[in-house]
Amino acid sequence: MHNQDQPLIFEQGRPGRVGFSLPDLDVPEMDLSQLLPEGYIREEEPELPEVSELDIMRHYTALSKRNHGLDSGFYPLGSCTMKYNPKINENVARFNGFAHIHPLQDESSVQGAMELLYDLQQHLIEITGMDEVTLQPAAGAHGEWTGLMLIRAYHEANGDFNRTKVIVPDSAHGTNPASASVAGLDTVTVKSNEHGLVDLEDLKRVVGEDTAALMLTNPNTLGLFEENILEMAEIVHGAGGKLYYDGANLNAVLSKARPGDMGFDVVHLNLHKTFTGPHGGGGPGSGPVGVKADLIPFLPKPVITKRGEEYVFDYDRPQSIGRVKPYYGNFGINVRAYTYIRSMGPDGLKAVTEYAVLNANYMMRRLAPYYDLPFDRHCKHEFVLSGRRQKKLGVRTLDIAKRLLDFGYHPPTIYFPLNVEECIMIEPTETESKETLDSFVDTMIQIAKEAEENPEIVQEAPHTTVVGRLDETTAARKPILRYQKN
Ligand SMILES: *Cc1c(COP(=O)(O)O)cnc(C)c1O
Repeated sequence: MHNQDQPLIFEQGRPGRVGFSLPDLDVPEMDLSQLLPEGYIREEEPELPEVSELDIMRHYTALSKRNHGLDSGFYPLGSCTMKYNPKINENVARFNGFAHIHPLQDESSVQGAMELLYDLQQHLIEITGMDEVTLQPAAGAHGEWTGLMLIRAYHEANGDFNRTKVIVPDSAHGTNPASASVAGLDTVTVKSNEHGLVDLEDLKRVVGEDTAALMLTNPNTLGLFEENILEMAEIVHGAGGKLYYDGANLNAVLSKARPGDMGFDVVHLNLHKTFTGPHGGGGPGSGPVGVKADLIPFLPKPVITKRGEEYVFDYDRPQSIGRVKPYYGNFGINVRAYTYIRSMGPDGLKAVTEYAVLNANYMMRRLAPYYDLPFDRHCKHEFVLSGRRQKKLGVRTLDIAKRLLDFGYHPPTIYFPLNVEECIMIEPTETESKETLDSFVDTMIQIAKEAEENPEIVQEAPHTTVVGRLDETTAARKPILRYQKN
């Protein structure tokens, strides 16, 4: 364990200590007032710590150890697919021809980068079963919004201005209704049945002439494969609506099932989840959107296409919804995803899904005697438990999550999806060993026993972390983002 009381760099400085050296100035010194407007010029020197290079190295290394990352331990954060990010991705993203090009360079000088993007599009078309893909959106939610704007543009082009409702299951990720709202559409909720799947009768009730689309996550956020997709497609298409596939959970169906074959018109993927872009802490991500042929004219422009042997940005798209992101999208994440797809190959991607699903089912079965299992059936890549039984003993799911920190684990997603009381959502991913899965399960079993025998130890957790329980609401509403000297 590192020293938690190690002073931050601000207290370590000593006047005159330096961590850099610069050559002597060999040009005339400029008068600041010629460079900056008056209000921007400091009257006094800033109070900065004066430290050596070694001090600053240790400062940042110490800070990095205060965090929990995927490379430091198990991270079963349901719905987030925190799988290992192969380091070869980083090597490739750092190639000069990728890392050092300028986004405004002429097409003729970045043909290699454009070829990679074009090829990535082709792979994603194959993986999803769609007809065309755009790589512009910067994340999953951005992809959702883009996809809904495409659907809206499609309906409007048909003179169908009253299709303003997006049907979203009650188990959906919170970004779904939010994206609908930002796209100027209204959300209608469809209920889940007792099996955790979309209730077809309720779907028939809410679908109608005002339906723009049904937005479905599959496998859904309970980790269950929606069994009645073909019926749902018939119901929604029959009413003139479109089908949107939230593909953030694609890790569970890669090389096994394709949204395009199930009747979906639009799908977004989370390359930073399924295709190993590093994520957490807010990005960058990549949320490509795939569409069927009748939506292609509306795709964001420019579209990367191939003319003969040459790759070009096609701006001649009169019905396009326009650009949704400058330049190439988050190019570096696209390079990483491409590297991953090429290094895994089709058989590798199939194995990903098989192990992700096997790992989740293995953990679910081992934990089932100790925690309530609201939907007792095979899961896909993730599963949900309920902490109802522990709650009756005075131990809440939040306490269980905090107690896991004492054992060096990132907690699972909790209190989501909203339709399960005291929800605990676990996604192990395919990259963890059986030993890691077993130790986590053993820890969860120990916590379940503590809840019965010694609830205080769970209620008061965490005991070993740099900071104790935080006031998360105040931290989010009134964050203190600057160092404050005591
Ligand atoms: C992560 C996720 C999203 C949102 O993706 P971001 O990249 O975080 O914007 C949407 N839907 C589901 C099911 C997800 O798991």
